[in-house]
Amino acid sequence: RAKADGRATYRFFEPAMNAAVQARRSLEIDLRRALALKQFSLAFQPQVSLETGTVSGFEALLRWHHPERGPISPATFIPLAEEIGVIVGIGEWALRTACREAASWAQPASIAVNLSPVQFRGGKLVETVTLALAQTGLDPARLELEITEGALLDDTDGVLTVLNGLRGLGVRISMDDFGTGYSSLSYLQKFPFDKIKIDQSFVRGMAGSAECGAIVRAIARLGASLGMRTTAEGVETADQLDAIRAEGCSEVQGYLTGRPMPADQAAALLT
Ligand code: C2E
Ligand code: MG
Ligand code: MG
Ligand code: MG
Repeated sequence: RAKADGRATYRFFEPAMNAAVQARRSLEIDLRRALALKQFSLAFQPQVSLETGTVSGFEALLRWHHPERGPISPATFIPLAEEIGVIVGIGEWALRTACREAASWAQPASIAVNLSPVQFRGGKLVETVTLALAQTGLDPARLELEITEGALLDDTDGVLTVLNGLRGLGVRISMDDFGTGYSSLSYLQKFPFDKIKIDQSFVRGMAGSAECGAIVRAIARLGASLGMRTTAEGVETADQLDAIRAEGCSEVQGYLTGRPMPADQAAALLT
């Protein structure tokens, strides 16, 4: 009887599991050729200075338009691209495209590009960034590279060498999604980031939780005393903006001050 139930359960789940595996496999195949088929684009989200109230730059965010499934979230395809290694080529494309776009803007605003931890492992990241700057003519001082704690977990000495190499090119380095990883404070001590981006979960929590407000305030003060700028991510409401301003952050990025937008709209905001 028990055995029969077990078999029944097995039969019930097997097709569903196969479907999930199949779906993943087919997404993987599509992802491998998405770059060659020009299915990626970049969206640009404004970053607004709280000192001047103007757009100081944009973050470039990768978009994949799948021919049958439509837009697929980076939260879905980036982990898969990292797993199968294609993030290196996709990341190079994103970097070059973002630099080229920024080089065409009417004002010398900054451009922030996300780097995957996988891109640190290949041993040619400094070369890749050097090439992107040379090919597009972008002033290195306008480029910000965003890294997450995931990049720092691997092999700290190797990563620090790469970060110092990047810094040597004259680009700036930001710590993204700050506060969500494991040992953020020791990273801030090991490497002098130019900017800390406060994760949107803390910003979102500020309205209902005194703890989130206290964390945002502490990060803003930490940044100020270490000489690092601080950007609050995910600011959606005027109340959140007021609270962020009161805590002394340098910059905000969120739906309130601008959603990620196509390149031509971003360029138009700077004219
Ligand atoms: P991230 O670097 O932390 O980027 C910020 C994410 O927050 C973006 O999601 C943005 O659209 C979203 N966001 C901004 N303001 C708001 C807001 O007010 N409310 C809400 N709810 N969300 C907001 P997106 O574009 O889906 O990207 C997700 C993540 O995918 C990024 O997080 C980044 O880690 C990764 N990613 C995106 N583009 C690239 C890329 O070119 N390379 C790599 N390696 N990762 C990328
Ligand atoms: Mg980012
Ligand atoms: Mg972030
Ligand atoms: Mg994030």
